[in-house]
Amino acid sequence: MNRNRFARQILMFGEKGQNKIEAQRVAVVGAGGLGSQLCQALAYTGIRSIGVIDDDRLDETNMNRVAGALPSDVGRRKVEVAKEHILKINPEAEVIAIPRNLRTREALEFLLKCTHICGAVDHDGPRLVLTELAAAYGIPLIDATTEIFPEAEGRPFDFGGRVVVATPGDYCLFCADQLDRELAKEELETPEVRADRRKHGYGLGSDLPAPSVFALNGILANAAVMEFIVMTTGIREAARHLTYKGMRGVMVSRDSKRNPDCYTCATCGQRDNVNIWRYLLPEGVENFAA
Ligand SMILES: [Zn+2]
Repeated sequence: MNRNRFARQILMFGEKGQNKIEAQRVAVVGAGGLGSQLCQALAYTGIRSIGVIDDDRLDETNMNRVAGALPSDVGRRKVEVAKEHILKINPEAEVIAIPRNLRTREALEFLLKCTHICGAVDHDGPRLVLTELAAAYGIPLIDATTEIFPEAEGRPFDFGGRVVVATPGDYCLFCADQLDRELAKEELETPEVRADRRKHGYGLGSDLPAPSVFALNGILANAAVMEFIVMTTGIREAARHLTYKGMRGVMVSRDSKRNPDCYTCATCGQRDNVNIWRYLLPEGVENFAA
């Protein structure tokens, strides 16, 4: 590896820190607006092994926010575009593109081989799967999300996002109150059950496209990768819960602790006993949102 490429960050991380970063294997789940910028920022760290999981393809409306995607990439798989972008930045990286739903054996088995998981998913369903898997198998999960709320009746315009660093046994998205178990369970139901629930007008929120902006995704994606860097190099412990408040232009680190009654944190290290395989999609089901 050409060390000169990393000379300026070795001045911050030290050779030892840089070597530690390079030795990690990180999975990025979701390769859209947020995930593509996670891939980009991870590639610039010099990390040697990155896996990207997403079963979606790029459409024209993605062009405002997918790092590395050009208009000529419309129709291509998001993971293939992410892989190309990572390799342009760091040709020596091993990039594993998994064009499958998170809830497939290929995707879940890959996650179990990673040192860290970065979550960039749109729904609480996959967020629950990642949370349970990360706790059970002792893999740190760095989960990022952004939110933009257009002005609505009784609510002013607002925007922002957050990064939660879930360290197994120490803290998770449930401790952070950032995961709705009931909503997640609904999202993980079979397509038939979901269709039936929709028909009867229950839950699952809106299918309308959510607002999304490259710069906002960049703030949260880079904050997430910064936490990966500080925890890996030993510069400091990761912040458990960072919140970006867009209307005030500030990043706030919440003084958060594990909920002593958190069931998920208590399953730390229980591996196959937690049976994450129950989340596998039924045979033949593909392109299942959430
Ligand atoms: Zn917890």
